[in-house]
Parts: sequence; C-alpha cells; structure tokens
Amino acid sequence: MSNSVKYIFVTGGVTSSLGKGIISASLAKLLQARGYSTTIQKLDPYINIDPGTLNPYEHGECYVTDDGAETDLDLGHYERFLNVPTSQANNVTTGKIYQSVIEKERKGEFLGKTVQVVPHITDEIKRRIQLLSANNKYDIVITEIGGTVGDIESLPYVEAVRQMMWEFENDCIVIHLTLIPYLSAAGELKTKPTQHSVKALLELGVQPDILCCRTEHELELNLRKKIAKFCNVSMNAVIEAKDASSIYDVPLLMQSEELDKVVLEKLGLPKKSSPDLNKWKSFLERLKNPKSEVNIALIGKYVELKDSYKSISEAFIHAGVSNETKVNLKWIHSDELSKSSIEKKLSDLDGILVAPGFGSRGISGKIQAVEYARKNKVPFLGICLGMQCAAIEFARNVLGLEDAHSTEIAEKTKSPVISIMEEQKKISDYGGTMRLGAYKCQLKPNSKISEAYNKDNISERHRHRYEFNNDYLKEFENKGMMATGINPETGLVEVFELKDHPWFVGVQFHPEYKSTVDQPHPLFVAFVNATLKNKNK
Ligand code: GLN
Repeated sequence: MSNSVKYIFVTGGVTSSLGKGIISASLAKLLQARGYSTTIQKLDPYINIDPGTLNPYEHGECYVTDDGAETDLDLGHYERFLNVPTSQANNVTTGKIYQSVIEKERKGEFLGKTVQVVPHITDEIKRRIQLLSANNKYDIVITEIGGTVGDIESLPYVEAVRQMMWEFENDCIVIHLTLIPYLSAAGELKTKPTQHSVKALLELGVQPDILCCRTEHELELNLRKKIAKFCNVSMNAVIEAKDASSIYDVPLLMQSEELDKVVLEKLGLPKKSSPDLNKWKSFLERLKNPKSEVNIALIGKYVELKDSYKSISEAFIHAGVSNETKVNLKWIHSDELSKSSIEKKLSDLDGILVAPGFGSRGISGKIQAVEYARKNKVPFLGICLGMQCAAIEFARNVLGLEDAHSTEIAEKTKSPVISIMEEQKKISDYGGTMRLGAYKCQLKPNSKISEAYNKDNISERHRHRYEFNNDYLKEFENKGMMATGINPETGLVEVFELKDHPWFVGVQFHPEYKSTVDQPHPLFVAFVNATLKNKNK
C-alpha cells in the first residue's frame, strides 16, 4: 500500500442536502487545476446494493458509469466538474460492503472467527476506500460520506474514518460540512447546531480539520472566531460556503475562501501553481451572459423531483453555454398531456425532449408529445424510453400498426416494435441486470447525428432492457424513419432520425451522462442549436 496517496474525508452535519457532492467536486476541481490528479468517491449508507432498483422519487436520478455501475447522482457532478470518468469503485453502499463480508464468511475466509461490524465491516470499508489509491493512479482521493453525522447507519463509516486518521496520520484530513442557520426573528446567524454537530463527531473520535459552513449570509470575523474556538479548528479552516446562484460558481467561491490552500497545507502538499481556471471562468462568463433564450419541454413522469433528470438538465446548461443561449426547461408531466391539452402545453415551445423512464404510467402522454413534434416539425430529442416512444408513435400513426407497443408495457401486443432482447428473457433479478454501461455505436454518414458528433464511431452509456425490434426496420426506413446509429457487434438500432424533419433524433443510449463543463455533449449542443433555428425561423 502506498502512503503517498492523500485522503480527504467529507462528512455532513446538522441536516442533509447541504451539498457535500458539490463541495467535494469543487474542491477536487481546484486541486485538479493545481496539477493534482484527484478522484472522488461516494459512500452511501443504505442497504440497497446500488440505486438501480430505487424509484427516482427516493433518490433522484440513477447515474451510470462507463463500466456499467448504477450509481448515486453525485458521481454525475464529479464527472461534470472534473471531466474524468468514474467507475464501479467510486460508489460504495452498505449493501455492497455487507455483501462482500457475507460472501467471505460463507467461503470460510474468517477462519472460525465471529464476524462483527468492527473490525470486519470497517475493514471492508477501508479496503474500498484504498482500492481507489491502488497503482498510484491518483494523488488525492476524496471520500464523501453520505448521510448526516449522528445517523445510526453512518456509524461504521465514521469509525472507518477514525481508524484511517489514526493509521495514516499525516495523509488524511476531515472536512465537515455544516449549516449556520439564520434566525430572522433574532436577525442572527447561529453557530450552536454546528458546535453540536462537531461534538457528535468528536464523540465518535473524529476531530474535523476544516469546517465548511453553509450559510445564506456572510460569516463575519467574530462568528468565524467563535466557530474556530468552539470546534477546535484554526481560523483559516472555517470556510464560508454561501448560497450560490449556480453550482458552477462554487469552485470559485471555494477558491476565494482558500479552501484548496488550507487543504494542501494540512496534507503537507506543495501548493504548486495557482489553479488554472481560465476555461472554467469563460464557461461561467458565457453562462451568465447569454445572447438568446429558448424554451424546451422536458417531458417525463418524475418532473416533480427535478433531481430525477439531473444529468439532462445539467447537459442543457452546458449545451446552452456552447450556443450562448439560455435554455429554459419547461418541466411537463407526461400524465398531463392529452389530445385536448397538448396544443396548449406545447405550442409555445422551441423544442421537445422526451425523457427516459420505466413502466406504463405516463406513456400515452409521451407518445402524443412525439406525434406533436413529428407533425409540427418541432426539434425533438428522445432519450431511451423517449426513443422507444418515437418508434411506437411512428409504427402506429405512419405505418398503421395500431396496437404497436413495447412489450415492457403490452406484453402480448401483435406489433412488438420494441421488445426484450433474447438474453434478457432468462433474467429474473431486477438489480444490475439491464444493458448497462458503454457500448459502441456506428453512425451513418450524412445524418443529423454524425453531423452533431462530427465522427462516425462513438461510445455511449446504456441503461435499458428493451430494444427496437429489427423485424420492423425495413418498413420504418421505407417510410422515412432512418436508423442512423447501429451497434456494430449486435446490429441493434441505437439511433433513429426522421428524414423530412428539421431535427428529430431518438437515441437508445443516454448522452446526458457524458456531458461536462469542459466537453458539453455534442448531441445536446446540436439539439439546442436546432431549437434556436426553430425559434428564429
Ligand atoms: N424502460 C425502457 C427499457 O428498459 C427504457 C429505459 C430507459 O429509458 N432508461 O428498455
């Protein structure tokens, strides 16, 4: 084991949803911009093996990595900020930890010992943290501990941190993210919840090195002094994390608070050059000064919880910046779309996106939205289920196959234009068994999609069980729905586009997962561009 790798643990106190993911990603960005190769890992204290089986209402979007891990949406933030792919090892859950320990126990690997939370579960947590530092691939590993300090379920994680702080004394630090609430009746910011939260950590044997304080108002000097004194941290280690108008402001806010400098000092690492954030700043500059605006419908069935479509909404921010355009997303519940309401809901919009999803709820509204986009020549992007809806709509309304459907929703349909893959038929387990992760796709020249990517061979991430049924391909193409992206190994259709339409593209994969600040996704860039043209025509 190399001890040259440095570990930063990020814990959270007082409440959930303080934005540990964004703080971790922002710190990583600053360290990366100083020349340190940095990765971020999320430890989730729930018992599910991964969030793949979770309803988006529970936990927001399920993010998918190149190597096919179904992960927490924070990994999306890590990739969007760092522009470096994450992998299976970047997201660990209590379910995974217990699964490995129990598998070992069944193999007799504990040699007759009693298997316990300490040391066996904590050892497995420490092993998973150190997996990321193997082969000296990274200088710094940031590990974000999900949940809030004091929760029963995060206890083994905090204990693992305590042990690592002891074992790797000079190579570990803890950043505790807390809340400094503002009491309007008293007109004051209050530090007591933070003091209590640090006490809770201390009871578990962990002294934080740095406090990141979420606040709606500036932290005055006196308040910083008070926090430092009561929580045993140095003054420069009390970091103000004020509410920002965009998550992409946070790295610069953290830089002005010198979070990166304090971290490097505490880890005993040289500061190297000051962070090169020119590209990032120019992104922000364009984000805040758009030249035009477009309105795009995001049609899905989990729109009440915007986190369900996190990667899509972020990809629109990146693509908007590339087009110097502000993209206003109109979140529309597919259940609300009917023949009578559709014109009213969609007629003012410059583009339509039909989102990914599972199951039958809301499907009819999605199919009607596709029909509206096709007939009215509104730029359209369908992602995964959105692409499948485009195929169903075309089969029904252009080919006249009235009962065309996906066998996911109508198992016995006579026109299964979307059906389950042969190898999927044998699978009965739900978790981790879909077509997951990166697959190659070959694009047809002179298509909208190859024009968008400006190349013919791409790789994109998947998360689905059902596919377009190639028995119908000839009929589709004869009538103008062209398969312009094909999986070169299986012949499966990955992309459809309509011939006589300004911009109508459906993709079986999820382009949104790969859009980053440094590399806005070309398909989203092209789609936003098409909506701009539609608006200005
Ligand atoms: N439910 C569809 C399938 O499994 C689409 C999945 C998705 O949109 N991610 O094929």
